[in-house]
Amino acid sequence: MDLCSRSWRWVVPEAEGKQAPPPRLSRVNGWSRPLHSFQVVAWATLFIVAVANFGIFIPFLPRSWKYIAYGVTGGLFSFHFLVHLIAVSIDPAEANVRLKKNYLEPMPTFDRSKHAHVIQKQYCHLCEVTVSSKAKHCSACNKCVSGFDHHCKWLNNCVGSRNYWYFFFSVASASAVLLCLIVTLLYIFIQFFIDPAELRTHPYYKKVSNKNTWLLFLPLFPVKTKTPVVLGIGVFVLLLDVISLLLLGHLLLFHLYLSMCPEAEDCSTGPC
Ligand SMILES: [Zn+2]
Ligand SMILES: [Zn+2]
Repeated sequence: MDLCSRSWRWVVPEAEGKQAPPPRLSRVNGWSRPLHSFQVVAWATLFIVAVANFGIFIPFLPRSWKYIAYGVTGGLFSFHFLVHLIAVSIDPAEANVRLKKNYLEPMPTFDRSKHAHVIQKQYCHLCEVTVSSKAKHCSACNKCVSGFDHHCKWLNNCVGSRNYWYFFFSVASASAVLLCLIVTLLYIFIQFFIDPAELRTHPYYKKVSNKNTWLLFLPLFPVKTKTPVVLGIGVFVLLLDVISLLLLGHLLLFHLYLSMCPEAEDCSTGPC
């Protein structure tokens, strides 16, 4: 697909075909109601990955690797959490929209009989302000977004010049966290079949004689469980990780491609 030959800048916000109508009130950021189901899935996945990584799987690693894994994935995870929060919380609207528009007032409906486009000569007929040349009126947010890139359902917010790099590093750091967890899980699976004693080096295991009994949430809240439960959680988390990494990796490569594309500013659509 020739992504660079398509311009998406002048999209009218009224409902067309199956497209949802724009909200009556402009959305401020990713926390504005309604929350998107993709956004809830993203945060739930983040929570599962964090609990599985720090609570269950890193404690299985040998002592020296364990602290490296805590440091590397802990740093990456904290960084991801921070940039993800910022990308969702920023209002990516044009400066004039943020300064002059009252978000509590309902937006007018676009009248195609009066104007051919929502934005003409850098004036938005819906926001009723002048906007910059790279602005686009997002139909999902119902406001003009500065340096519009795309509307991200996972963030439930537009990505524009004000939050683009937070979005980009959120995707990059999430991919790195998932990659670390996949490597950890593969090591655990291999050791489980080759030498399971290597996964039972924590001092708590001195009190556990049954080789089919494993401890989760070490060292703070040890919970005893059996082998099938640990394997089941491991397979589920590995599948979740691989699927998430494929989606995020696709998105990351797409945005790296756009950054190298000479007409990248017109490639404002993508897999997000
Ligand atoms: Zn507008
Ligand atoms: Zn939007």
